[in-house]
Amino acid sequence: MILTSTMVMKDNKQETTGVRAQINRTQYREHSVPMFLTSSFTFGSAEEMAGMFSGELEGDVYSRYANPNTEEFIQKMCLLEGAAAGFATASGMAAVWSSMAGLLENGDHIIASRSLFGSTHQILAQLLPRFGITYTYVDGQQPDTWPAAIEDRTKMMLLETPSNPGLQIIDLAKAVSFCKSHGLILNVDNCFSTPVIQNPLKLGADLVTHSATKYIDGQGRVLGGIVLGNQDLIDKVTFFCRHTGPAMSPFNAWLLSKSLETLSLRMERHCSNAMELALRLKNNTKVEEVIYPHLSNHPQYDLALKQMKMGGGIVSIKVKGGIKAGRDFLNNIKMSSLSANLGDSRTIVTHPASTTHSKLTVGEREMVGITDGMIRISVGLEHIDDISQDIFQALES
Ligand SMILES: *Cc1c(COP(=O)(O)O)cnc(C)c1O
Repeated sequence: MILTSTMVMKDNKQETTGVRAQINRTQYREHSVPMFLTSSFTFGSAEEMAGMFSGELEGDVYSRYANPNTEEFIQKMCLLEGAAAGFATASGMAAVWSSMAGLLENGDHIIASRSLFGSTHQILAQLLPRFGITYTYVDGQQPDTWPAAIEDRTKMMLLETPSNPGLQIIDLAKAVSFCKSHGLILNVDNCFSTPVIQNPLKLGADLVTHSATKYIDGQGRVLGGIVLGNQDLIDKVTFFCRHTGPAMSPFNAWLLSKSLETLSLRMERHCSNAMELALRLKNNTKVEEVIYPHLSNHPQYDLALKQMKMGGGIVSIKVKGGIKAGRDFLNNIKMSSLSANLGDSRTIVTHPASTTHSKLTVGEREMVGITDGMIRISVGLEHIDDISQDIFQALES
């Protein structure tokens, strides 16, 4: 499936690509892309069927393999991230899993930054060992310590930056040169930043995964994920996915493709609201610390400025008074949603120590920068005055 040529002029800005890139129109000349809710495709002849099955002829065969809607979503994401190829999956975790399971073998070893999404940690700790694949955690902020983690069969480095919810930044340029010099595949979960804020592939990373469930949908409606990278790696991931079946549904792909039309606009507002909220909270006496990558007190402020075009939509704060103060804060919230999700048009607050990270010990939480009073605010698209009023009144009461 080919994107309409006039829509993908080479030097289009990212905003234009997000809005304009679209698969070829059908005979009905529709403006908005139709939904191809079909499990399989038909052929004009036995020869055409044979050709499309073998890949000698271009064309869709079966929606577990490819579908016009998923193909459009993939190609738009490739343009936005600077990737040669990709595969779209039913969820972010299917993307993360496929990016490992599609490329690693029994005996291989992964180096991973310690602050990872919870389910990614479970894959490393509980699932991959069943297939003889092991891992070592490193501190993403201490690149000097990475070489000590290398083993004979180390194949991949896995990382997330900024981390969740501590918003620690990993130097992607350093990760690229580390991986290049040791022949490792650098696999970056870019979900928190989206292609609008940083493009790890353009810096030299080998793979990028996204949970499209978050900012890419941005309205809390569907699950989705994608793996992006060079043709060679994606061919292997695609082989794994075609035969194990984590394909994205055409409906979700249609919707996510539409969501990409507003992604840069939404990210600008998420980020400007988050920056403003961080500034307003900075001198609040109930708050011990405000963590935001583009706030000048962030320990890696210079790196965050260099690496991230904007500061992102997440602000983490440490309220004084530990676990109880964290829970009280949540109970006092009036407008924002109490939910585990993030990247939504609606502001969402969570208390990691009593929810997403409750299974870790206090020591383990501290290692990934989470204190008992930490609150993660996924800053939404409401007016900044209403968002900050809600947060401030919850701090005061
Ligand atoms: C949410 C999330 C995932 C998992 O995505 P799902 O779509 O929920 O499967 C993976 N990585 C990060 C950083 C996330 O925030």
